[in-house]
Amino acid sequence: MDIFEEQNPDRPHLKDIPFPLKGTVVVLSERDGGGTHSGFGKYAYDFVNVDEKTHSGCYTGASYKTIHEIVGYGKPIYAVTDGVVKQVVDDKEDQPMSVAGFEANVVIVQMEGGIEVNYIHNQPNSAKVKVGDQVKKGMHLANVGNTGYSLGVHLHFGITLGTATIPFLFAPLRVLRKATGIEEVTIEPLKVGDIIFNP
Ligand SMILES: [Zn+2]
Repeated sequence: MDIFEEQNPDRPHLKDIPFPLKGTVVVLSERDGGGTHSGFGKYAYDFVNVDEKTHSGCYTGASYKTIHEIVGYGKPIYAVTDGVVKQVVDDKEDQPMSVAGFEANVVIVQMEGGIEVNYIHNQPNSAKVKVGDQVKKGMHLANVGNTGYSLGVHLHFGITLGTATIPFLFAPLRVLRKATGIEEVTIEPLKVGDIIFNP
């Protein structure tokens, strides 16, 4: 039994969560993927847009010098649920490539029941919402950046209750699985290197 199930024996997992980025996107960190994606953070993901034809252009394994060469820099982040904006940080500068900082730009949207959706590492001065705003699913919240504890441009996406991330399922997604090379429509957990097609 995981932490979420222990703390919330009767709470159903969140389902049918729309994907927060549009276009062609690579999974950079998966569930229980180590670092900030373990323990209380185990249900968070890292994502970034890549070139739609080559599936390249993210920072891992490549010799990009500046974050502005990264295909996903500045791509819009869309709200996955309705809710109310609880926190916005928008004035932190981007980190250089491969240099982790401390304070990230964030948008945090609170849903009913105290559940919060976290959109983290956002581009400076890109927030489209302010604290207290009503958010509708699909609303443009901010853009992808490289602020805070981040080694390259990406969106850190997690849903939390208290201090812990909680499990959820995306609505069915078209995914090219890295492990098998097979494209499928799935709600199964995403893995590092999977390519998501979300037109
Ligand atoms: Zn992350």
